[in-house]
Amino acid sequence: MTTATVFNAIVGQQHAIRLLKTFIRNGTLPHALLFTGNDGVGKKITATAFAMACNCLTLQSAIRRRPHLDAIDACGDCGPCRKIAGNHHPDIIHVAPLSSVIRIAQIRKLLQALTLKPNEANRRVVILADAQTLNPEAGNALLKVLEEPPDRTLLVLTARQTSDLMPTIVSRCQHIRFSPLREADIKQLLTAAGGIKPETVEAVAALCGGSFTRAQKLIDSRWLNRRDWIIQAMGSQMADTGISGIRAWLAWSEMLAKKKDLIEDSLEIITLWLRDILVFRTDPQRVLNQDRLEALSAAAKHVSQTQLLEQIDAVDRALTALRSNTNARLTLDAMALRMAGA
Ligand SMILES: [Zn+2]
Repeated sequence: MTTATVFNAIVGQQHAIRLLKTFIRNGTLPHALLFTGNDGVGKKITATAFAMACNCLTLQSAIRRRPHLDAIDACGDCGPCRKIAGNHHPDIIHVAPLSSVIRIAQIRKLLQALTLKPNEANRRVVILADAQTLNPEAGNALLKVLEEPPDRTLLVLTARQTSDLMPTIVSRCQHIRFSPLREADIKQLLTAAGGIKPETVEAVAALCGGSFTRAQKLIDSRWLNRRDWIIQAMGSQMADTGISGIRAWLAWSEMLAKKKDLIEDSLEIITLWLRDILVFRTDPQRVLNQDRLEALSAAAKHVSQTQLLEQIDAVDRALTALRSNTNARLTLDAMALRMAGA
C-alpha cells in the first residue's frame, strides 16, 4: 500500500485538507483551486493526495454506498492510486517552471493535451506548481482554460501568495491557504526521516520557519558548520573593540564573500543570531538557536541593544543590496564596518 501521498499521511494543513475532503464528500469540486503558502509546507503533496482521492476506486464506491461518508481518503492501493503515487497516471498532468519560468510553450502544450478527453481518469487533474513564475503571456493563455475548463478536468495551482499572481487568475480559482508547519510537525517529519541527532532536530525545527524544505536544507552539515563558524567568529569579534577587532571584522567579511553560493544563507544566519542575542536577555525560551545557549550568553555580555539593532539593520541593508546585484565584497565590507561600530 502506498501511504506517502494520502491525506491522512500529510502532517499539518488540517484546514486545507478538511476543505478538500468536503468538496469530495459533497461532490462540489471546483474547476480550479489555488493553494498558497510558503515553500515546503506541503502544497504539492496535498495536490497529489487530492488527485488521488478524486480518482480512488475504493473511495468512489464507498461514497456511493454511504453518501455522507466521514472518512474521505484514497486507499493508496487501487490501480489509479498506485499510478498517481508512482507518478505515471496519464491524466495527472504536472506543469512546473523550467529555469525559474513557466513559458507560453508549456501552456500551449497543456491546452493541446486538454483538447482530448481524459484517458481513464474519473477526474483529470492538472497540478501547476509555482504559478508565480508564469510569464505574462503564459498567464494570459492559462486564463482561457480557467474560464472554461474541459469536462472532468480540474486545475490545482500552487503559489507563495496571491499578490504574486495576476488578479484575473486568482479570481477564477477557489483559494486555499496553507499555513507554516508547527515546530512539532517539523520535528515529527524529521524524526520519521531517521538518522538525525535529536539536538539537530530541535535546532532545525526552531530555525526553519515552518518549512520542511528549508528544514531539509538546514540539516545539510554545510549549513550547520557555517552557522557554527559564524557564531564563533562573531563571538570573538564582538569582544574585541580595538583596532584589531575592526581588522577581524574585515577578515571575516572577506571570508563571507568567498563562498558566493552561501552568502545569502550566511546573512540569514547572522540575522537569526543577532535576533537571538536580543531575545536571550528577556526571554531565553524564545531563542531559536536553542542548542547554542552558552555562546549566546557570552555574546549577550558584549553588545548593547542599540548596537544589536544597528547590526541587524546593517545586515538587512546588505541583503537588499546583494539582491540587486551590487559587488558582494564591497557590500559585505561596508556591513562588517558598521557591525564593528567603526
Ligand atoms: Zn485507491
